[in-house]
Amino acid sequence: MSNSNIYHEMIIDYSRNPINFGTLVKPDIFMHDSNPLCGDSIDLYMNVNNEQSISEVKFNGKGCAICIACTSVLTEMTKGKKIDDVIKINKTDVLSELGLQKLNPVRIKCALLSLKILKFSIYSYLSDKMKTEDTKSEKLVKLKEDASHLY
Ligand SMILES: [Zn+2]
Repeated sequence: MSNSNIYHEMIIDYSRNPINFGTLVKPDIFMHDSNPLCGDSIDLYMNVNNEQSISEVKFNGKGCAICIACTSVLTEMTKGKKIDDVIKINKTDVLSELGLQKLNPVRIKCALLSLKILKFSIYSYLSDKMKTEDTKSEKLVKLKEDASHLY
């Protein structure tokens, strides 16, 4: 089987059997966003532990195969990781996992919707937490930049 067939199989498989699909009650972090062009609609839930790691992550919603597959992959990359490492996940990390580096501009939104939600939701979580500290910290400014320029 060629690489592109393997990736295609992976996408179909993830979309039929999503990883970390579900909801969390009273999550520390929650955000919803959608991609009207395709109809993808994703809720992302995360819990943060005392070590500032993502102890739990779930997603819910509906979307095309690419959207659901990429969201599954992203939650796998996120779970158990330190927030400081999670915010470094970039679009290439997600796209290359499923061989999607050459997607057209419409489909790229399907693939990166959940990464956008992840970055904006952590941004707002950290902004809240750091309110009394330095809200213009370099880390936060960069995170917002990243989130705004994904696609
Ligand atoms: Zn889509």
